[in-house]
Amino acid sequence: MNTRRALAGRIALVTGAGRGIGRGIAERLARDGALVGVHYGHSERAALEVVAEIRKNGGRAFPVGAELGVPGDADAVFAAFDAGLREQTDTAADGAGSLDILVNNAGVSGSGPIGQAVPEVFDRMIAVNAKAPFFLVQGALPRMRDGGRVINISSLASRRAFPESVAYAMSKGALNTMTRCLAKELAGRGITVNTVGPGFIETDMNARRTATPEARADLAARSAFDRIGMPSDVADVVAFLASDDSRWITGQYLDASGGTAL
Ligand code: NAP
Repeated sequence: MNTRRALAGRIALVTGAGRGIGRGIAERLARDGALVGVHYGHSERAALEVVAEIRKNGGRAFPVGAELGVPGDADAVFAAFDAGLREQTDTAADGAGSLDILVNNAGVSGSGPIGQAVPEVFDRMIAVNAKAPFFLVQGALPRMRDGGRVINISSLASRRAFPESVAYAMSKGALNTMTRCLAKELAGRGITVNTVGPGFIETDMNARRTATPEARADLAARSAFDRIGMPSDVADVVAFLASDDSRWITGQYLDASGGTAL
């Protein structure tokens, strides 16, 4: 029996991994054997809990703190990542070979319909959801080993009309476009670039939509399975894309909405 774990020996960075979907992804990648940089912006305590939980379960992880959506954000992430990695491994942390998997998960939502839009909120959506991932990939590439993985967490909102949060949907559309462009460019190095598009998932992002039993039932009914998605529903798809089994898939948007878009 082959007991080797799918991501043994790999190094991953998951943004926004202190809570929600990112936490689920970090825990799953660690379970599959990766050493995981658990990035957080504001939720330091939560991220430290995730690191502790991973270690308790026999995995390897370290915290990476840096706010996204501010000038110099990608540089700050990699400064923290390099420093954290140096404590974990003998790898030349600021050089080639110090990263295999980048998951751009951190995101902000709630931009509202166009009638309520203000420039500051629009700019924030773009800065956190599109610009930060773009420069995180730029920072990741010199570090990434050939055969690496870039996985972007987009949203079904980018594929269906979602006027209730139009700037958010636009920012995720930018991520889908980046995925296609970079997949073409990076294939020569065996690096795949893919997007996962969740539907409604049980996280803080949907706290308002799950506040009452009626609202919860309404949200659940959007999925063909009549339930709200869990972070693990997305994390398991990410784990597949992070693994060697997905080597022939690149430039794709994988719908992980439980059939919401059918
Ligand atoms: P969440 O529970 O609200 O968590 C958001 C995560 O993003 C947190 O870990 C947060 O970290 C991080 N983040 C937000 N702003 C940041 C900033 N300025 N700097 C650094 N980190 C920041 O959301 P979620 O539901 O897990 O969402 C994760 C991803 O899935 C997002 O990209 C979201 O758009 C996407 N998505 C979610 C759903 C859904 O239904 N939940 C559906 C489709 C797509 P800190 O707390 O440490 O700042």
